[in-house]
Amino acid sequence: MAVPLFDTVSPVVPLRAEIDAAMARVLDGGVYILGPEVEAFERELASYLGVKHVVGVANGTDAITIALQALGVGPGDEVVVPAFTFYASAEAIPPTGATPVFCDVDPDTMCATAETVRAALTARTRAVIAVDLFGNPAAIDEIAALGLPVVEDAAQAAGAKLGARAAGSLGTLATFSFFPSKNLGCFGDGGAIATDDDALAEAARVLRFHGMPDRGAPLYERIGWNSRLDELQAAILRVLLPQLDAWSDGRRAAAAHYADAGLGELVALPGATPGATPAWHLHVVRHERAGALATALAGAGIGARTYYDVPLHRQAALAPWVAGDLALPVTDELACTHLAIPMSPLLDRAAADEVVAAVRAALAA
Ligand SMILES: *Cc1c(COP(=O)(O)O)cnc(C)c1O
Repeated sequence: MAVPLFDTVSPVVPLRAEIDAAMARVLDGGVYILGPEVEAFERELASYLGVKHVVGVANGTDAITIALQALGVGPGDEVVVPAFTFYASAEAIPPTGATPVFCDVDPDTMCATAETVRAALTARTRAVIAVDLFGNPAAIDEIAALGLPVVEDAAQAAGAKLGARAAGSLGTLATFSFFPSKNLGCFGDGGAIATDDDALAEAARVLRFHGMPDRGAPLYERIGWNSRLDELQAAILRVLLPQLDAWSDGRRAAAAHYADAGLGELVALPGATPGATPAWHLHVVRHERAGALATALAGAGIGARTYYDVPLHRQAALAPWVAGDLALPVTDELACTHLAIPMSPLLDRAAADEVVAAVRAALAA
């Protein structure tokens, strides 16, 4: 039995009639951009997260850029970002005019910590991007205690919690991506910014719509973006959001199946931040022969791949912002040792057994 790396289709199959009805409602209404569906989804996601405001935007990358600009980040400022994350976490910084400064991560949770962030701070640091990597919330409270605004990149962590608080409610602002493969994925591109701060939410609303504060009056107060969540995606997300907790339970159950099947005897399992209830977006294990393991698993029909083999401080496009002597040893080690294996809300014990058997066989070979 083949086990895919992730499954974006099966979880939504039972929701097909509801999704069709939501899409028909938008077509019948004839409003496609910033209408009632986006407003309703923003309210519903804010209520789910326990925050005052959600602002829908076009994708998770724009969400970070706009969140930083809402904070006033601009030319001359530095923004600390982990080097072990998806490229977009850092790519979103230069469009603000600010400089990305890369920090290392914790070897067990693979997230930045207060300690790794502190090592990257200078007098010019204006904000920190903390990534809830692979669905595990970073230690945001400790990072925030350093005294700088924190943008929580929760693109991979919808459905996770830290204590009783939702991932996406932990930073000064938080950002989401609704790219189809994410925990809460729509049928195209989408993103959102969440915050409790009235002024930051208002700034994000202005920035997503060409820098125009009042859509009734054609007056532009700053250079903004054309970055909006559309009505069709918002209507679909309103059907999916009520499933998020059950899907996240399914992801945690899948992780438990792997542990029960003995995966931890073969490879290092992903660590959770103390107090966190992760919503595993990807199940990323560590082994010194990760590359060979990926090839062997693929040969056995098991979806497996590495994601961040070339960490951000070694990406050519980001080289202008990397000091020649920058050493990030944990990031460099994880780049060689991490491996994502199948994860989905529906991954059952039989599939976990199959994956673990394939890992065991590959390592014995
Ligand atoms: C997916 C992702 C993003 C970017 O989201 P898009 O919607 O693809 O622009 C940013 N940060 C992280 C950690 C992500 O996984």
